[in-house]
Amino acid sequence: MDPLKALADAERKPYWLDSPAKPEPLPRLFGNTTADLAVVGGGFSGLWTALMAKERDPSLDVVLIEGRKIGWAASGRNGGFAMATLTHGIANGLERWPEEIATLEHMGLTNLDELGQTVARYGIDCGYERTGELHVATEPWQLEEMNESVEVARDLGVRFDVLDRDQVRAEVNSPTYIGGHWERDGCAMLDPARLAWGLRQACLSLGVRVYERTPVRHMRDTGTSMELLTPHGTVRAGRVALGTGVFQPLLRRLKHFLVPVYDYALMTEPLSAEQLASVGWHNRQGVGDSANQFHYYRLTEDNRILWGGYDAVYYNGGKIKPEYEQRDETFVKLAEHFFETFPQLSGLRFTHRWGGIIDTCSRFSAFYGQSHGGRLAYAVGYTGMGVGATRFGANVMLDLLAGERTERTELRMVKEKPLPFPPEPVRSVGIQMTRWSIAQADLHQGRRNLWLRTLDRMGLGFDS
Ligand SMILES: Cc1cc2nc3c(=O)[nH]c(=O)nc-3n(C[C@H](O)[C@H](O)[C@H](O)COP(=O)(O)OP(=O)(O)OC[C@H]3O[C@@H](n4cnc5c(N)ncnc54)[C@H](O)[C@@H]3O)c2cc1C
Repeated sequence: MDPLKALADAERKPYWLDSPAKPEPLPRLFGNTTADLAVVGGGFSGLWTALMAKERDPSLDVVLIEGRKIGWAASGRNGGFAMATLTHGIANGLERWPEEIATLEHMGLTNLDELGQTVARYGIDCGYERTGELHVATEPWQLEEMNESVEVARDLGVRFDVLDRDQVRAEVNSPTYIGGHWERDGCAMLDPARLAWGLRQACLSLGVRVYERTPVRHMRDTGTSMELLTPHGTVRAGRVALGTGVFQPLLRRLKHFLVPVYDYALMTEPLSAEQLASVGWHNRQGVGDSANQFHYYRLTEDNRILWGGYDAVYYNGGKIKPEYEQRDETFVKLAEHFFETFPQLSGLRFTHRWGGIIDTCSRFSAFYGQSHGGRLAYAVGYTGMGVGATRFGANVMLDLLAGERTERTELRMVKEKPLPFPPEPVRSVGIQMTRWSIAQADLHQGRRNLWLRTLDRMGLGFDS
C-alpha cells in the first residue's frame, strides 16, 4: 500500500480531541481570588491533584488553573495506554531502585486499580478496558531480551503469559511477530481526552473552581502564601501544586531536568468486520513492539487502529512550537511500518495524524519535589508514561503539601532527583548522538555502542 495514498485525507489534528464530546472551555479568571490549594495545569497531573484533594478533604477550597484548555496537551493526545508501572517498566525501576521495585510494582498496580474504580464511580465514559499489554518481538535478539526479564517479573508477581510465534499471532495476526508476552494486569486502554473531560466534570461536581485559558505568568511567595499572577487576575493560595508538564516551568530549577521530545501518531478509519477478522485481536490488548525505537498500537472502541511511536524527535535548542506537531517524514515512515506489520490491511486509510510532546527526564520516570517552605509541590518528567502514573504523582504532591510522611513520600524514588541534562548546545549534540546510537543498536541486534554504554553507566538516558 502506498503510504502517501493512505495518508492523503488524514486530518492534521489529534483524533481524540476531534470529538463531539469536547466540552466548551470554562471561563477565564477575571479578578482576584483566594484558595487553600491552587493547582496549575489542566492535564492529568492537575486534574487528579484537584480531584483527590477534594476527596481527601471536601472542605478544602481548590482552584485549578489551565493556560489553554483542559486536556489539550499530552493528556488529550496520547496513546491511551494507562500503565501500572511507575518506573517506565520493570527493567528501568530495577536498575535504579532495586530494593524498592517490589513495593513500586505493587503501588503501581494499586494505582491503576484505583484509577479504574474512580472512572466507574464518577461514571466517566472513556472506553476504559483493562485488557493488558502484548509485548511483541520481531527479531530474535528482542525475544532474548524479553525472556531474560520473565523470571524477575514473575517473582515480582507480574502476571505474564509467554507466547510463542503461533500463540502471539493468534492474539494479533502479524507476519512480523516471532513471539511475545501478554502482561495481563499491567495496562488499561482508554480514550484520554474523554478521561480528561470526565475528570474535569468530576472536579466541578466536588466544587473545584476551574479556570481555562488562564496562563499563570508569574509566581510570588508572600512569606505566608503563594500568589499566582495571570493576565486578568491573581490567585492567592496557601498551597500550590504544579502539574505543568513539559512547558516553561514556573519553578526555574525544573528546566535543567526536562526536555521536550516530540512523539507522533496516526489513526486509521474504522476496520470493517472482515478487516478486523483478518487481524484477530479478540482480546483488544494494547500492543508494543520491542526494538529501542518502538511502535505502540491499539484498537479504539469503534475498531480503528491508533499507531504511534518509533521516531522520538528532539528539535535542537529544545524549543516548543506548534509546527513541530506535524512531521510528514515521520508520518510516512509510520504508515510504511503499519502496512509492513499488517499487510492484510492494505487499502485502509488514515483519518488523523498528529504529534505531541513528551516531558522527558534522564531517569525516564517522574520526579517530585517541594519548594517555598513546603508551600509548593511538583510532579513532572513522566517521559511518555503518565496516563496512569500522574494519578500516583498527584497523590505524592498532596502528601508532600500536607507535610505527611507516607509510604509514598518515604520512597527513594520520590526523594531522589534525576541527573540534569547539560546546557545547550551540548544538550542537543548529546541527545542527537543518543538518538543515532539507539537507531544503530536496532540495526545491530540491539548491541549498544560505547556512547550508550557510558550513558547507561552514568544512569543518564534519553527515551520517549
Ligand atoms: C503522542 C503521545 C503519546 C503518548 N502515549 C502515552 C501512552 O499511551 N501512555 C502513557 O502512559 N503516556 C503516554 N504519553 C504521555 C502522557 O500523555 C503524559 O505523560 C501525561 O499526559 C502528562 O500529563 P501532565 O498533566 O503532566 O501534562 P500535560 O498533559 O502536558 O498537561 C500540562 C498542562 O499544564 C498547562 N500549563 C503549563 N504551564 C502552565 C501555566 N504556566 N499556567 C497554566 N497552565 C499551564 C498546559 O497548558 C497543559 O494543559 C504520550 C504522550 C504523547 C505526546
